[in-house]
Amino acid sequence: VLDAQHIDKKFGEVNVLKDVSLSIEKGEVLVLLGPSGSGKSTLLRTLNGLETIDSGQILFNGNALTLTEKSWQKVRPEIGMVFQSYDLFPNLTVLDNILLGPLKVQKRERDEVKEVANSLLKRIGLADKATSYPRELSGGQKQRVAIIRSLVMAPQVLLFDEVTASLDPEMVREVLMVIKDLASEGMTMLIVTHEMNFARQVADRIIFMDAGEIIIEAKAVSFFTSELHPRVTQFLSSLT
Ligand code: ATP
Ligand code: MG
Repeated sequence: VLDAQHIDKKFGEVNVLKDVSLSIEKGEVLVLLGPSGSGKSTLLRTLNGLETIDSGQILFNGNALTLTEKSWQKVRPEIGMVFQSYDLFPNLTVLDNILLGPLKVQKRERDEVKEVANSLLKRIGLADKATSYPRELSGGQKQRVAIIRSLVMAPQVLLFDEVTASLDPEMVREVLMVIKDLASEGMTMLIVTHEMNFARQVADRIIFMDAGEIIIEAKAVSFFTSELHPRVTQFLSSLT
């Protein structure tokens, strides 16, 4: 679905991404691991056109995306992204937050989108919060709304950037459950997370980045069972 080929990216003198290549296949759950500052968020942002690249190319369904904003505008609704900070609009209700993209960006019919939005809300147990404002929700609830806001656009792939990192432990589970459900339904996803048990349960494939480079790419099964690369061992012990 989504391919990155030989991506290089510098911020000033710092080489943040060095010859990074990856491909996300349809129906696959790819988990991206790596220490702080290794370039995970930057990589996700380039895959969504939120960050420019210096060289290399990004392909969506085999078509190379040029660096113009116009070419991204078309595909961006197909590539959903959920961030650590939910970025809901505080002055809009939950439902209006969810409807915004489909109505403004996709120009869909209000009644049609509303039906989809309500069924998604129901599915994640927030049907009764449709008319609430973000400030009236818990962190976990806000993050689930943020996921729905992406899902309602019917993206072909979803990118998650540490979506549980700012949540209290008891709320992490409810958000991870939603992502696990999506995985079991065959949603194509690229997930950055520090939740190792979750990664183990949900990932088909693991990519480990360090200092802007992909140093390991492996099937999840072999990543967690085979002898670990010393850099990974160091990373995992830093998490506990
Ligand atoms: P974390 O796990 O802490 O979220 P990360 O792997 O997501 O880290 P990035 O946020 O991608 O890392 O940052 C990679 C490097 O790029 C870091 O050295 C960071 O300081 C630098 N960087 C990121 N964004 C910018 C920016 N807008 N301008 C300059 N440098 C940046
Ligand atoms: Mg990050």
